[in-house]
Amino acid sequence: QTPQKRPWRIAVIPGDGIGQEVVPQGLRVIEAAATRFDIALQIEHFDFASCDYYLRHGSMLPEDWKEQLDGFDAIFFGAVGWPEKVPDHISLWGSLLQFRREFDQYVNLRPARLMPGLRSPLAGLQPGDIDLLIVRENTEGEYSNAGGRLFAGTPREMAMQETVMTRVGVDRVLHDAFNQAARRPRKLLTSATKSNGISITMPYWDERVRAVAAEHPQVRWNQFHIDALCARLVQRPQEFDVIVGSNLFGDILSDLAPALCGTLGIAPSANLNPERLHPSLFEPVHGSAPDIAGRGLANPIGQIWSAALMFDFLGHPKAHDAIVQAIEGVLDPRSGAPRTPDLGGSASTQDMGRAVAQAVIAAN
Ligand code: ATP
Ligand code: MG
Repeated sequence: QTPQKRPWRIAVIPGDGIGQEVVPQGLRVIEAAATRFDIALQIEHFDFASCDYYLRHGSMLPEDWKEQLDGFDAIFFGAVGWPEKVPDHISLWGSLLQFRREFDQYVNLRPARLMPGLRSPLAGLQPGDIDLLIVRENTEGEYSNAGGRLFAGTPREMAMQETVMTRVGVDRVLHDAFNQAARRPRKLLTSATKSNGISITMPYWDERVRAVAAEHPQVRWNQFHIDALCARLVQRPQEFDVIVGSNLFGDILSDLAPALCGTLGIAPSANLNPERLHPSLFEPVHGSAPDIAGRGLANPIGQIWSAALMFDFLGHPKAHDAIVQAIEGVLDPRSGAPRTPDLGGSASTQDMGRAVAQAVIAAN
């Protein structure tokens, strides 16, 4: 554990829908872990980056949001979006995507593990057979916004969009992915590519993987074309450990991986600025889930696991491990712990959050 010179500053932004319900449970577990492991935190709450805020102020964020948030170590984020009242392109582009870009959160981590008590749609898997970490490039690549349309309204009408891969942008996420792999028992990194079809950017990606790999000799690595990789992940998920992909490939893989583990409700994510020049952001993979919001039925595990990723990033691996073990314990049906409806139970968001927090306090 890194000695703390000052309390970590955590900005809490619940956002919309079930974000309002799962964030308090995440906070409950954060407080339990901080007490259990003697971690000093300074927590502040913000109501912006929500559709309610938008309806009151006409924008998702205050003008000085960057100054307000930039001194924080982490943003603990729920979910944003209330499509009935505010179109998604306004709510999402006006908040979360601003954070990722302006705070240069270029690494997106999404772990997925088949824990006891989860039902994979794949037949014949044992708990532990899926234990993946998807590392997605989060700032450039296919999502460049460079391009345009030509010959509108004519038979020659066309649309083009550039993929941008910079040496700095590719190398920095690859280094992070190799470092992530080096910390795990299997120390295996798989690169998602498509250099047989995409003839300029993907061969460049492959070339940088080879170059960066040479600096991480302790990590084994291989590469798969994205199509073959998706098929292989369904057929033999046991073969993979850490997978790194460009912005688009990482996006696709980071929905596939948790789906193979049976529910979106437990999947966490970290949007990291590894140099810590700006706050990093921790949020569940799921969205605001308007269909179940306001009823206390949401599974809080995705939010709670995101809190574990936050502690790991801040230098508290024991708090991370204790939270993940508490989650595993609660999910295991033999524990008799409360389960939300998406896991086949009838417990509330609060009951489940309380059970995880109690297990963290009891951790040894
Ligand atoms: P986004 O647009 O933000 O990606 P979405 O609207 O596509 O999100 P979600 O809000 O994630 O999707 O919801 C997808 C489905 O999963 C919904 O039916 C929702 O009820 C369910 N769901 C999402 N999160 C949870 C959760 N934490 N617990 C239970 N069910 C959930
Ligand atoms: Mg949505």
